[in-house]
Amino acid sequence: MAQKRYSIAIVGAGPAGYFAAQALQNSASDERTFAIDMFERLPTPWGLVRSGVAPDHPKIKSVSKVFEKIAKSEGFRLFGNVELGKDLSTDDLRARYDAVIIATGSSIGKKLGIPGEHLVGSHSSAEFVPWYNAHPDFAGHQIDLNTDTAVVIGAGNVAMDVARMLALNPIELDPTDTADHALGTFHQSKIRHVILCARRGPEHAAFTAPELRELAKLEHTNVIIDAHEIHQAITRVGENAEKHVASNLDAMLHVAENGRNSSERTLEFRFLLAPEEITGQERVESVTFAHNKVSNDKVTANGERSTVKTGLVISAIGYEAEPIEGIPYEAGRVRNENGAVANTNLYVVGWAKRGPSGVIGTNKSDASDVIDLLISQLPAEPKSAGDITELLAGKVVIDQSAWERINAAEVAAGAPLGKPRKKVANHAELVKLGVL
Ligand code: NAP
Repeated sequence: MAQKRYSIAIVGAGPAGYFAAQALQNSASDERTFAIDMFERLPTPWGLVRSGVAPDHPKIKSVSKVFEKIAKSEGFRLFGNVELGKDLSTDDLRARYDAVIIATGSSIGKKLGIPGEHLVGSHSSAEFVPWYNAHPDFAGHQIDLNTDTAVVIGAGNVAMDVARMLALNPIELDPTDTADHALGTFHQSKIRHVILCARRGPEHAAFTAPELRELAKLEHTNVIIDAHEIHQAITRVGENAEKHVASNLDAMLHVAENGRNSSERTLEFRFLLAPEEITGQERVESVTFAHNKVSNDKVTANGERSTVKTGLVISAIGYEAEPIEGIPYEAGRVRNENGAVANTNLYVVGWAKRGPSGVIGTNKSDASDVIDLLISQLPAEPKSAGDITELLAGKVVIDQSAWERINAAEVAAGAPLGKPRKKVANHAELVKLGVL
């Protein structure tokens, strides 16, 4: 039997996209192989590994080596600087490829929906995180750290990243790939007290234990968790607590007992505070919280209120997918069943499929399941509809070689400074670095 070569488009060069490509490559057989074209709107690939993971967590970024191996495999082409909905339509891809995989993540920050959220000094993690990570769309954002107290709203790992970045001594960020503009701002920061506010109890927090435990090791930050509050939560959940809840509470207790030091930079965790209103004349001046209580695992208001004076509020309360024309969306994700979009040759992986949950590795098994389904639904004969490059005439495409030039230039610029790379935060400049 002749080997068939199917062409697959992947939109989005983040972890979910690469793991989908890897699952396809691993599924090649005597029967079929895959030509994979990956499209990315930015001139740089790696998605959240480049623009989401906190710069002080370089180990998490080492997965990029896996991505580069996938990209160098036979049959893989990168089309960076190509935007679906602008340079190409969903229909263009659907007509030319046997299957199109959407891997565009969730880039819109959820809104608190409280008065004052629009004030200057109130930001979403969806702006703040890509700002400090040199994402070209956010490099020009004005982030003012000229306040002694910052409030971070949310009890997930993103809230923890944000709070930690604000509470670190910036000398700790000097040897990282933090964007230059952000590093300069962190060095000028007047913030000495960061308050992370969770609306429910410690037992309901979405942090993960390894990330929590690390806080106790911070040398230049005084981390405050009230041990009494954690003991109360441990009593509430009892002996039958779910494993992840028990290990989270154990990690929080560890931080409560070991996180304090004499640093003037303080990161304080507060629980059972639901944000009610952000107030200020022209910019943020304070946040008012309604206090909650827990009984029988139900969280309800206890009638008390308090106000924290602050010039900076960052909400880190989850994300939604940004819609692309020609793709059905529902509840902040692509409408899908197990990754397949009904009555189309469209598939979806990662956060665009399941919502913003899980760590980077979660996308591997998730993508692998979707690829199994995709393969089971491939047409009997591959399409022969012409190469996509015909539609991209005149467009500067950042292919794998061009990206490797950008990558090498950033790494070389970082080396004398002791950084893993010195990121370029301007879209046009990145393209220029890639073009011969
Ligand atoms: P998340 O884990 O879903 O946490 C969102 C938090 O926001 C929850 O604590 C939620 O509280 C709270 N929240 C939602 N709406 C709120 C509101 N209106 N007011 C106050 N609080 C509200 O989301 P995430 O932190 O964005 O993280 C996304 C995913 O990326 C997670 O799976 C996370 O583990 C992962 N991640 C991993 C790492 C790492 O491994 N180092 C780093 C960053 C992110 P309720 O529970 O009360 O709704």
